[in-house]
Amino acid sequence: MESTRKGFNQNSIQDMNRTLILNLLRRQNNCARTELAKMSGLKQATVTNIINDFMDWGLVKETGFLTGNKGRRSIGITIDTDLFGVIGVQVARRHHIVGLFDLLGQRVSYIRNEHAPTISPRQIMDDIYCSIANLLEKNDDRKILAIGAALPGPFSIKDGKIELMTGYTGWEEIDIRQEMESRFGLPVILENDANAAAVAQYWNDPEWYENNTLAYICAGEGVGAGILTEGKLFRGAVGTAGEIGHMSINFKGERCACGNRGCLEGYCSTIALTKEVNRILAPERNYKYSDVKRLIREGNPIAIEIFSSCCDYLSIGIVNIINAFNPSVIVIGDEMSHVVPEEMLRRIKRRVKECVVPSVYDSVTIKMSAIDGSMVCGAAIMAVQYVFDRPEKYFNTAQTGDNPD
Ligand SMILES: [Zn+2]
Repeated sequence: MESTRKGFNQNSIQDMNRTLILNLLRRQNNCARTELAKMSGLKQATVTNIINDFMDWGLVKETGFLTGNKGRRSIGITIDTDLFGVIGVQVARRHHIVGLFDLLGQRVSYIRNEHAPTISPRQIMDDIYCSIANLLEKNDDRKILAIGAALPGPFSIKDGKIELMTGYTGWEEIDIRQEMESRFGLPVILENDANAAAVAQYWNDPEWYENNTLAYICAGEGVGAGILTEGKLFRGAVGTAGEIGHMSINFKGERCACGNRGCLEGYCSTIALTKEVNRILAPERNYKYSDVKRLIREGNPIAIEIFSSCCDYLSIGIVNIINAFNPSVIVIGDEMSHVVPEEMLRRIKRRVKECVVPSVYDSVTIKMSAIDGSMVCGAAIMAVQYVFDRPEKYFNTAQTGDNPD
């Protein structure tokens, strides 16, 4: 069969080599030119030219002498984190986070806003645009190159829209990508929130995850999973793969807005947990999720029992993910994972072990996320990756003041 892949011209090969060196620098943090040549397989002269360009663009800086093999000294190179940045956004049902990140994916500053229960999607997006504008204004000494946003699913990457946010209507009418791009004149990378969180895990440990299948389970105001296999996201046809929140665990259960019955999300999100605690414990007090968290940590037996049953439901979703994707590692993150992480992990492991073939269970590592704010961080990382894949366009012209778009 004839291949439909296009060839590469000289310029794109040069840019691909630059991307390779950028990614190596990002992983190694501080590295000599000779080491970069060795790791990339490029000629020493090519690496020297690339580093010269990067230094002219303000993208990297020299760090002083490194002592290498046989006591030979060479100059270290590192990515300069002061000049450029990206914006990361996380949209959730009851809050949003907007942060400024450097090119290593480290958070420089951020804004978190809670949403009033009656607020409309339109108001939430306008509020987010205000937060982005604020961050841009406060950090005008830094050149911001792109915006990455993590959105709850089912999110259609093709249309740039949230197709459904259970409990909230009107999201499907907002073209988020188009709005953000025209407001800020920056490239906008949108991703499902669990996928973005999976990318954040990978960015922090690429050597390990490159040969493995990772499933990131977000247990927050919604429930979902991001699947990464051999370093690549598994998105499916329109980007909604891993939507375990809408996997039915009870075909006679309540009808969900997605059309299915008894969706997992209705049993084990932080919203479901808060609702159940209020129903049983304190209908008149109308506890918020922060109160429920406190009750569990203080040892309230009823709150603990409801929390444990949420963990059991979540375990069913995890068992389904294990049977469908056979991941080598499962990372559990988002708000529910912060309440009593050790107890939660112990319970989930026990339940999953009961329901999975022993050899399959033995081949999977289940752990809690160690990254604070995986979703917003993953969104920012995807924006960094976008500009790293196009160094000439974003870093060269940025120095001359031209608009890269
Ligand atoms: Zn559903």
